[in-house]
Amino acid sequence: MLVQFGDCRIELCQGDITEQEVDAIANAANDLLAGGGGVDGAIHRVAGPTLMNETRTLYPDGCPTGSAVATTGGRLKAKYVFHAVGPIWDGGQQGEAKLLESAYRTCLELCREHNCDSVAFPAISTGVYGYPMDLAAEIALNVARNFVVEYNSPKLIRFVLFSDGASGAFARVLESMTE
Ligand code: ADP
Repeated sequence: MLVQFGDCRIELCQGDITEQEVDAIANAANDLLAGGGGVDGAIHRVAGPTLMNETRTLYPDGCPTGSAVATTGGRLKAKYVFHAVGPIWDGGQQGEAKLLESAYRTCLELCREHNCDSVAFPAISTGVYGYPMDLAAEIALNVARNFVVEYNSPKLIRFVLFSDGASGAFARVLESMTE
């Protein structure tokens, strides 16, 4: 599914983010940038040791929740990885929505800084961090739409969803944006 906003496209696909041929992919990292399971583990495995070497050297203090930092893509097809730190879900009253929104938004700002026309995102915080998928989809797609409407870039934002549940939740929200 895809929706065009001005010159920009927001699209959904089901698959593996490590295989995406885009300028940058976002990672769902933790605040220590310490590596982990899930999508983070998959990205580091495919990209190789360059990523961890870069995060250790460039960001020894990690990255605060709600923000993101850039490294190169190592052996990935993507030139950059934006390591975004989403919030851990704690019932929804602890500022989780704002933090998730700013994690996505920082990645989109990094696209502009690094001249990336295309970026792929996983559903940040919806795995081990427990963010409810439908609420996360709403935030992710709203940030993406608002950003492209404001800046007319990046030209492509792709959400790469790993499960039928994630695909369904994102599709429902994106569809509602076209009504
Ligand atoms: P978090 O700690 O932010 O919750 P996870 O890695 O546990 O991060 O999960 C984030 C989302 O990424 C989940 O919806 C999970 O199903 C999905 N995911 C896991 N592996 C991949 C992958 N290779 N490509 C895309 N999405 C993935």
